[in-house]
Amino acid sequence: MLKTLLERLRPATHVRIDDALWTATLAALPFLARLDAAERERLRELAQQFLADKEFATAGELELTAAMQVSIAAQACLPVLKLGLGGYRGWTSIVIYPDEFLVPREVTDEAGVVHEYVDQIAGEAWDGGPLLLSWADVQATDGSYNVVIHEFTHKLDMANGEADGVPPFDRRLHAGLDPERWRRVLEDAYERLNAELDLIEAEIPPDLDPESPQADAYYARLPLDAYAATDPGEFFAVSSEAFFVAPQRLRDAFPEWYDLLARFFLQDPLAGEAR
Ligand SMILES: [Zn+2]
Repeated sequence: MLKTLLERLRPATHVRIDDALWTATLAALPFLARLDAAERERLRELAQQFLADKEFATAGELELTAAMQVSIAAQACLPVLKLGLGGYRGWTSIVIYPDEFLVPREVTDEAGVVHEYVDQIAGEAWDGGPLLLSWADVQATDGSYNVVIHEFTHKLDMANGEADGVPPFDRRLHAGLDPERWRRVLEDAYERLNAELDLIEAEIPPDLDPESPQADAYYARLPLDAYAATDPGEFFAVSSEAFFVAPQRLRDAFPEWYDLLARFFLQDPLAGEAR
């Protein structure tokens, strides 16, 4: 089935996505509807090259299908539609888990004590290494949530070192972007989100489970998912999800930050819509 739907013309150098599969992939991702015909064609070309460059593997009993690979490729290529695939160079492996997966962690605290624990996560991008995704989360695209865009924007961010929310700027494409201003606007927005989060957390009754649906109603007042308040790298990744999937609230809350994202990605998902 993979061979017929993803016809390999020259092994590992070119992949052609079947027309019907491409149409079905676009239809399942409503945030791609804003792209015009030329942009959709460009996205398809990038996705085909992406599929030739990357290697997919699954964990557990999950069966790897062409539809899964094309869906991930299309979403991963959206942030680089105008930038090209250069930001995704230097690694090849994408591992898909059926659902959220467990990752053992080790953290050394200030006293030098090593704490070991297990994290349950929906996706992870390793610096210079593989990118891991939960397939259940790839399919859960309600609100501004998009784990593929999240992890791939971490990869863009890591192209100049750690994921700190400041990706490398291209001298030609990003001539007007200044890393210092980017960092300042990012930190202002990040600090404001944290201040809003502190206010909300002070309001949540102490006996309410922070993971419960009742607590979600409090967090829903934030203009971005609370996970963005973790650190500036997560703020950039979560903002990028919102930017491409449900941008209105992001632009209303952080207009200057939104404009910088538009100038970085060279796309404006709200172009033509009144402020
Ligand atoms: Zn992240």
